Amino acid sequence: MNPELWIEEERPAIGGELFASADPATGGTLVMLARGKAEDIDLAVSAARRAQPLWAATDPNERARILWRAGELLMERREELARIEASDSGKPLSNALAIDVPRTADTFFYYSGWATKLEGSTIPVRGPFLNYTLRQPLGVIGAITPWNFPLLLAARKIAPALAVGNAVVLKPPEEASLSSLFLARVLADAGLPPGLLSVVTGLGEEAGAALVAHPGVAKIAFTGGTDTGRLVMRNASVTLKRLSLELGGKSPNILFADADVGAAATAAVSAAFYNQGELCTAGSRLLVERSVHDRVVEAVIEGARKLVTGPPLDPATQVGPLVSEGHHQRVLDYVAQGEAEGARRVLGGPWGPQGYYLSPTVFTGVDPSMRIAREEIFGPVLAVMPFDTLEEAAALAEATEFGLAAGIWTRDIGKAHRLAARIQAGTVWINTYNRFDAASPYGGTRQSGFGRENGRAVLDELTELKSVWVALD
Ligand code: NAD
Repeated sequence: MNPELWIEEERPAIGGELFASADPATGGTLVMLARGKAEDIDLAVSAARRAQPLWAATDPNERARILWRAGELLMERREELARIEASDSGKPLSNALAIDVPRTADTFFYYSGWATKLEGSTIPVRGPFLNYTLRQPLGVIGAITPWNFPLLLAARKIAPALAVGNAVVLKPPEEASLSSLFLARVLADAGLPPGLLSVVTGLGEEAGAALVAHPGVAKIAFTGGTDTGRLVMRNASVTLKRLSLELGGKSPNILFADADVGAAATAAVSAAFYNQGELCTAGSRLLVERSVHDRVVEAVIEGARKLVTGPPLDPATQVGPLVSEGHHQRVLDYVAQGEAEGARRVLGGPWGPQGYYLSPTVFTGVDPSMRIAREEIFGPVLAVMPFDTLEEAAALAEATEFGLAAGIWTRDIGKAHRLAARIQAGTVWINTYNRFDAASPYGGTRQSGFGRENGRAVLDELTELKSVWVALD
């Protein structure tokens, strides 16, 4: 049976149309989804606006209890949910079980705590007045997510928004919507009143654009590609919506000769190839101090060669198929482009008789001006580049338009801190890579977007600050 939309309950799209979502492992159709359009978004926003005032006035302890229960239910149903996420997005089942589902539950546990802790302040002002601030929910939040971590990225938007009394309308990615629909059911089972979370499946230019344009939506929390982000920003300006944009990246992973080179090379492999490289923070540019360059390349090739490419549901798989035919072709085009521009492909290439696979691919001899060194590929493709001095490493690190994340590997702690402060990136990892926590702020700068998710920071973006004056005489 085809899954339906979720607006207060399961229901078909008003227009009754469907669209196909592909199976990345075979190239066939995995499922037909309801094609929600502007009228479905309108219905969802109306339901959200009806339900939200009561939710905002609900005892925060009750909001906390529901979010905590959702986290528990996610863990109870993790096997089923991980299988859905893996078969829909192509990610290895082992990753979905170890990371996507438990981190989603963590996000609900973490923001459950914030429901009772949002405080205003009292401000010493001139004159006989009491001045204090209230933090109040914005109303309806429009959430738009990509296909690489559809469940976890939806949770990062939904959990904090609900914790502080907002309602959410989610437009999940057309390539992988099933876990978002599953999440809507989990929240309903946890006791979330109807209307506070809707999931409208559909196309970006239809349902997504309608959500961005809707005058009843107070804020858009968007994660996706940089070009789509620009379009969303333009369209959101008509109604002066608040906006946060989590966009693309081309993150440098900088390895100095004074690092624990073996550990750094091992980490560089997972930094580049975790989730088939379909990770916005992928360490897709490995910058290596020249004296250890050849040694590092050898170790990276050896490590990458050992990664098991295969079908997402095979428990041994470490690198699954790319999400769709179009995306697969785009990544293959980058590989061809790298070779045409003169870089050396020292490992990797297309894999398997069917489905959208590419085994871990490593390029050396990469010049910073090449497209594979500057543009986000969003697949298992690593560009290795040598440098001679810290100044050169810092300049190379910023030789793209992005500013999402960076890695620094050195035993010189002073050098690490100086460089961490200097690099323009939302997150810097020192002697580690790809660490995330619901408690730690996450987001980008430059063309990687603006706004923060996770931690305390996102709560400011999901609430309005009101100043109240009281005459005391
Ligand atoms: P995408 O931009 O094509 O789509 C993202 C979402 O936007 C989808 O739900 C899509 O339907 C919707 N959309 C498309 N057109 C729209 C429009 N006109 N109006 C409103 N919504 C619209 O991105 P993708 O291909 O799904 O995901 C890959 C991209 O996401 C990569 O660039 C990656 O770096 C980025 N990403 C960023 C982060 C981050 O946290 N910075 C995390 C994951 C992925």
